[in-house]
Amino acid sequence: MYDYLIVGAGLFGSVCAHELTKKGKKVLVIEKRNHIAGNAYTENVNGIHVHKYGAHIFHTNDKEIWEYVNSFVEFNRFTNSPLANYKGMLYNLPFNMNTFYQLWGTKTPAEAMMVIDEQRKELAGKEPENLEEKAISLVGRDIYEKLIKGYTEKQWGRKAADLPAFIISRLPVRMTYDNNYFSDRYQGIPIGGYTKMVEKMLEGIEVRLGVDYLKNKSEFKRIAKKIIYTGPIDEYFEYCHGQLEYRSLSFETEILQIDNYQGNAVVNYTEAEVPFTRIIEHKHFDPVETSHTVVTREYPAEWVKGDEPYYPVNNSKNMDLYKKYKAMINDDGDVFFGGRLAEYKYYDMHQVISSALYFISKQD
Ligand code: FAD
Ligand code: UDP
Repeated sequence: MYDYLIVGAGLFGSVCAHELTKKGKKVLVIEKRNHIAGNAYTENVNGIHVHKYGAHIFHTNDKEIWEYVNSFVEFNRFTNSPLANYKGMLYNLPFNMNTFYQLWGTKTPAEAMMVIDEQRKELAGKEPENLEEKAISLVGRDIYEKLIKGYTEKQWGRKAADLPAFIISRLPVRMTYDNNYFSDRYQGIPIGGYTKMVEKMLEGIEVRLGVDYLKNKSEFKRIAKKIIYTGPIDEYFEYCHGQLEYRSLSFETEILQIDNYQGNAVVNYTEAEVPFTRIIEHKHFDPVETSHTVVTREYPAEWVKGDEPYYPVNNSKNMDLYKKYKAMINDDGDVFFGGRLAEYKYYDMHQVISSALYFISKQD
């Protein structure tokens, strides 16, 4: 008999497993994939740590979370400064004085603000209600058309006017020449990859890979007093209220016999006509001297049953549906729901870790 059965060896499940074991609980982790670390999983391909499920950059403002992850593995000093390729021209991201200079030739914050203020007049002071309006209110129509609209609509498969504004608020807008994508105080990539970090979290804990909880729910319920479930909440309840929408991705990875393909970890392709959203060159996250390189193109796709559900689509229709599933949770006894899929939340890694630590602090 286990005190806790943890469904999913992603960050939520692994942090819970680690903390509960520290408290003296007997824990079993089951994972339906054939590896641990969830979407943060990295795999060593000929000496390069490949981010198998897309670029993962750790960033946080919370010193405790930073110290927590550093207690498992050392982090490097990687700073994410992606480029945007729009019709063959390169622009710096996030939107900052470099981007404004590249687009308009403006050199001072006052010059750039004049252009943005002129362009945001089209909103006539209206409070932005969706991603399109929010983007125009932040940076004006020019940047919206070149660097946001095409990328966003292919990433989400929906009109920017039908998406929630918070998605674009993830990106800073800076009136300084600073290409750091994140404003957080701490940032980096675990040296040796995320898998190594999660291996440390799970050290000494029983983990069974290739096991799907939902295929054997009643048997698993018999062997554990409490269950922590980190898979999709709608799947858990057998889609009884209907399916939540997710965005999925397909990854096209190539090993190239050159040492440096694009000179940067991430290059976004922001025009609608290019079918992928970004190209990632993995060796730039955790630099190594090799004569080859590994690159991945990321193609967004609408999720259908059987695909990996990467991004929750947090629009009002889905949030209403999610609330119906959330209301069913208490009916189900000692099963707890946590993480990006079980909470249907666009969480970053630091937020998932923080949410797991908070959850554990409430357990006796
Ligand atoms: P997951 O990592 O999804 O783990 C859940 C696990 O549960 C999975 O391994 C799954 O296989 C397993 N599971 C599900 N159902 C079952 C079942 N029935 N039985 C057994 N096992 C099951 N965050 C950042 O901070 N920085 C970034 O740069 C960043 N980039 C990202 C890029 C992409 C493309 C994506 C998709 C996400 C990115 N994230 C990033 C977010 C980050 O991946 C998540 O916040 C984090 O990994 C979520 O952890 P989790 O444990 O909640 O979920
Ligand atoms: N975005 C954009 N152009 C870019 C990069 C991002 O329009 O070049 C928008 C897009 O809507 C995206 C959102 O900003 O979904 C958040 O970007 P982020 O890089 O945080 O997305 P993630 O890494 O989570 O996929």
